[in-house]
Amino acid sequence: MADLKHVYRFGKETDGNRSMRELLGGKGANLAEMCSIGIPVPPGFTISTQACKHTIDNDMEWPEGLREQVNEGVFHVEGEMNKKLGDKEDPLLLSVRSGAAVSMPGMMDTILNLGMNDKVAEALIRKTGNERFVFDSYRRFIDMFGDVVMGVSHEYFEEAITSLKEQSGVQNDTDLTASQLSELTDKYKAIYRKHTGHMFPEDPMEQLELAINAVFKSWNSGRAIKYREISGIKGLIGTGVNVQAMVFGNMSSECATGVCFTRNPSTGERELYGEYLVNAQGEDVVAGIRTPEPISSMKKRIPAVYDELLSYTHKLEDHYKNMQDIEFTVQEGKLFILQTRNGKRTGAAAVRIAVDLVQENIVSKEEAIAELVEAEHIDQLLHPQFENGDVKEKDLIGKGLPASPGAAVGKVVFDSKRAEELAEQGEMVILVRIETSPEDVGGMSSAEGILTSRGGMTSHAAVVARGWGKPCVAGCGDIVINYREHSFTNGDLIIKEGDWISIDGTRGFVIKGQKNMIPPKLSDEYEIFMRWVGEFESMQVRANAETPEDAEMARGLGATGIGLARTEHMFFKDDRVTAMRRMIIAEDEKERREALMELLPYQKEDFIGIFRTMEDLPVTVRLLDPPLHEFLPSEDEEVERVAQELGVTEKLLRIKIEALKEFNPMLGHRGCRLGVTYPEITEMQTRAILEAALELKAEGINAKPEIMIPLVGSVNEFVNQRAVVERTAEKVFSEHKDSIDFLIGTMIEVPRAALVANEIAREADFFSFGTNDLTQMTLGYSRDDATKFIPYYLDNGILGEDPFQTLDQQGVGQLVQMGTELGRAGNPKLKVGICGEHGGDPASIEFCFKLGLNYVSCSPYRVPIAHLSIAKAAIKGVKTSVNQN
Ligand code: ADP
Ligand code: MG
Ligand code: MG
Repeated sequence: MADLKHVYRFGKETDGNRSMRELLGGKGANLAEMCSIGIPVPPGFTISTQACKHTIDNDMEWPEGLREQVNEGVFHVEGEMNKKLGDKEDPLLLSVRSGAAVSMPGMMDTILNLGMNDKVAEALIRKTGNERFVFDSYRRFIDMFGDVVMGVSHEYFEEAITSLKEQSGVQNDTDLTASQLSELTDKYKAIYRKHTGHMFPEDPMEQLELAINAVFKSWNSGRAIKYREISGIKGLIGTGVNVQAMVFGNMSSECATGVCFTRNPSTGERELYGEYLVNAQGEDVVAGIRTPEPISSMKKRIPAVYDELLSYTHKLEDHYKNMQDIEFTVQEGKLFILQTRNGKRTGAAAVRIAVDLVQENIVSKEEAIAELVEAEHIDQLLHPQFENGDVKEKDLIGKGLPASPGAAVGKVVFDSKRAEELAEQGEMVILVRIETSPEDVGGMSSAEGILTSRGGMTSHAAVVARGWGKPCVAGCGDIVINYREHSFTNGDLIIKEGDWISIDGTRGFVIKGQKNMIPPKLSDEYEIFMRWVGEFESMQVRANAETPEDAEMARGLGATGIGLARTEHMFFKDDRVTAMRRMIIAEDEKERREALMELLPYQKEDFIGIFRTMEDLPVTVRLLDPPLHEFLPSEDEEVERVAQELGVTEKLLRIKIEALKEFNPMLGHRGCRLGVTYPEITEMQTRAILEAALELKAEGINAKPEIMIPLVGSVNEFVNQRAVVERTAEKVFSEHKDSIDFLIGTMIEVPRAALVANEIAREADFFSFGTNDLTQMTLGYSRDDATKFIPYYLDNGILGEDPFQTLDQQGVGQLVQMGTELGRAGNPKLKVGICGEHGGDPASIEFCFKLGLNYVSCSPYRVPIAHLSIAKAAIKGVKTSVNQN
């Protein structure tokens, strides 16, 4: 390993090669790159991530050659600065900074002013005549070195400076005199000694070696490992170490240190945005030691430096083709750039910056779509937001799953009926339930937002809420709900019915009181950006929607059809549910048919609404799917009321409910099994769909219904149901002496259906992968119970990703691929889509794009995200195996 290169000087040796990011870490690579494009960066060098790995793997033994190369590196910096480390005439000080390939909070903090000792301090005082500056730097160094390298808590040092400030009756550290800072330096040394049992190391090279080792070790610190886990950062080997000459922002009032963004990170506006502090060092600006000044005031105070900074920001944007987050220091009027990286930004800013950078000819449309706007950005734009992003610790009641994004404020209500009543009176309510069931949809739709204490990202509450774009925090285990007392508690606070709370479904926060909200407003830039996105896509995006309002919204957001209209939700509305219940408790086919005839006009009306909204765009209607017991009341008081409504005895109703109980309802009497055993249900629904389409035809609207049979596992089930649909169609068409074109297809959600897809495809016009059920059945994870173990699985690396959120490509994805390929082999004209929750997940969408599906279908609010994900996949050039249409 002797001749292996471990150390790279900024600038020349890397030649601004961006591919060296893995080897040098992001900070190091960017420092090197800035150097090579002529930005003033203090000289320095980077120790490679490989050297870090070697050292960690070898019991902190440095690889051969590293020591010599570090010495040469220091020698190089000394030459550039014309100063020497530890020198008694003109000493050099260094900063030691960590930096992995991906920016990672939790890694080691930076050490500044390394190389300081008593002799060096004397020399520096002689050289600069600035005793105050020297002891300020010295005490900072002991603090940082003690904290970061030796684990002496920063608090001990902080206590010492605070009590000194109190004693001398001053507010700011800048008010301390030189002799006070000298006194403080001695105190710091004593603190160091007390907590480490050693004298502070005087030898600069020893300091440097200890600092470098501390950076190496921080790669495997608990918090760094945790951060990598949480953020899904994999495949990195270690951190780089940057050793750099110090420049000083704390020498006088002609010095400063600051941070800035090249554009406003919350609006995207093109303006320098940031803060700086005069006579300060390091993280003082962000640490809140003094109140920093806005960067605009630099323009008045030091105009030449401001202009210079502005010109570098333009240069850096041009170079990195992205908005930059920059750290700088001004030493006696001279500007140095210490760091640059792509800046974090809000959704609104991301879109505006992307559009502006294209229009300023800095990036291409492809680059803007691929690099500058992410799904989360678009998601943010589509939902109301809390005005100021941060939540005070004391207001946070609890944290749950961010099940459906957006912000909502309302009074707490625990009962769906009550929620409906209050909403009717114009109250804003948040429905709080342990979990929700289809019975709650009325209350859910009346509420501003939904909070549950149980259930996961695909729990009933989550799916329904997302579908409606209604904010939802699900599975908030921090709270315990007491229905009887009409209250919930997090152990500290008790929140009662009628109390105000705010929920943030984007972050999963449950917050006390009413927070201010701002509604989403789609900007002109958004429209422009989405138009560009449209230019690159080659797969359709449909929406899951079952009301005209949702369909309208979906169209407005760019849906080109409905991929899933669930019919059962329609049955929960008002008086329909009574007819539905009558159908369920019917004693025989005749009674059942009578009840169904009652439902027919309602269903027809629903379909007319949706078809009219969608006009000539395709609408996939799924026939009745859930187990019937879901329509019957579950609570005692309810049973009594419903029995009255139905005109039957409570006893009879209870017998019916008992009879419909299943051990495993999700694997029980549901889906096409209902249609097969009660064909009259399929008949009624088919009739409603086709009569609706015929009625609209008379109005000149060419509806395109696609009838979807759910939960098919064998071709015989499909053939059976297809026959019922066709028989009914013939009847309806001859009655009306008119006909329309429509398709009959199936949902692929039982694993067996994917395995025998070629057989089924010969009989079907289309497939739609119902990946919620397909995931549930392939993994054998009950969607409603999986929250008991999935979080644990994720924490412990048993699962990489929640399979209900992002498609398990290796397993379930294989079935999707097989189903698609076998299906198209059986029927080359087969149309294939996906309508599970995964249809709105970027990674899953890319997978579907690769497989060459015809469309993805997702909740209306996810439609723009799906468009973006498809365009990204297309730009990335992921191959599609089958032609699109
Ligand atoms: P982080 O990764 O936390 O941003 P940095 O390595 O960027 O840590 O260092 C934090 C701060 O320390 C920088 O913003 C800068 O103010 C200061 N700093 C780092 N290196 C130097 C240096 N060579 N000269 C002066 N200040 C420095
Ligand atoms: Mg930094
Ligand atoms: Mg299903």
